[in-house]
Amino acid sequence: MYKQDNPIKNSHLVAAKLIDWYLRNHRDLPWRQSRDPYRIWLSEIILQQTRVQQGLPYYQRFIEAYPSVQALAAAPEQEVLRLWQGLGYYRRARNLHACARQVVEQHSGIFPQSYEVLQKLPGIGKYTAAAIASFAFQKAVPVVDGNVYRVLARLYGETTDIASPGAFKVFFNIGEQLIDRQQPDTFNQAIMEFGALHCTPLKPLCLYCPLQQQCWAFAHSQQHVLPVKSKKAAVRFRYFHYLVIVSADGKMLMRARPAGDIWQGLYDFYLLESALTLHEEPEALEEDPLLQELLRLQPMYEASPAYSHQLTHQRLHVRFFLFKLAEKQLRKLVFPPEFVWFSPSEAEQIPKPVLIQNYLKDVRF
Ligand code: SF4
Repeated sequence: MYKQDNPIKNSHLVAAKLIDWYLRNHRDLPWRQSRDPYRIWLSEIILQQTRVQQGLPYYQRFIEAYPSVQALAAAPEQEVLRLWQGLGYYRRARNLHACARQVVEQHSGIFPQSYEVLQKLPGIGKYTAAAIASFAFQKAVPVVDGNVYRVLARLYGETTDIASPGAFKVFFNIGEQLIDRQQPDTFNQAIMEFGALHCTPLKPLCLYCPLQQQCWAFAHSQQHVLPVKSKKAAVRFRYFHYLVIVSADGKMLMRARPAGDIWQGLYDFYLLESALTLHEEPEALEEDPLLQELLRLQPMYEASPAYSHQLTHQRLHVRFFLFKLAEKQLRKLVFPPEFVWFSPSEAEQIPKPVLIQNYLKDVRF
């Protein structure tokens, strides 16, 4: 619970100060000029776990390619994934597409206004539903994101662990008491922007803060303790060995990754994963019939340097082994049915993990 010596009092004053600060200090971002729920939704999905500077060009590209929810719904999934390439978290892109389709098919192309109904759409959680309901439809629903957790925890001395399952409800309740019901859209923008620019994680600008007088953390010198967050989940290390099989005319063998692991639906090469280490030579890998056959037909493979790639809870260590094979050699091999040949220009067009894209930029066939 928040500290008893500083309950949520002066909520009007705090909200007014946040809005006043926002009107004088906010960044001019394209989606802020819009009340169109499609644009607001698109920007929120792109910006989840992405910095504004990184997300901005993606937002512009998506709006250009798909100016309406109908246009996005009608696009092939591969094309949407291709446009998303580089942002990571590809499940978000698939949900984005599924959501557009659902809005068109089940809501006649019009985003629902209700906070609860919005959450029934794919990829729309509590935060995004609150953002759409308030920014597009002026509903008094507080947004709660990382910035809001921090600002509220500091202002009210709220010590609930923000990684705990009950945290959202605690902070949502505080937000509900604080939100300006006349202008919930501006209030929500204000508190998020204040957290992003002023009450920042490591160097909050307390000396110039309009909320000094109302801030529990400032009064008790606890800015660097709040918000309370328990440690992140451990990182899993994985070791990928890709067999890059290339024909004499430069075509490469790739497949769309299946469900149940990272990068679902993105294209990569034949993969052998080992449990403990990244090998320098494929001979060190465990028996694999295709690898054995490749080594017999073409012992002169090219090994790439080691690549490493960070995902949210996984660190990948990766090496590529390039096998160039003549037509008659290829005829002796049997590939799993999901593998397809792509020319370099075709491979350019299909959605791929950034790691694969980087390798293709580095390698010469
Ligand atoms: S005084 Fe410091 S900790 Fe408190 S709201 Fe302002 S910037 Fe944040």
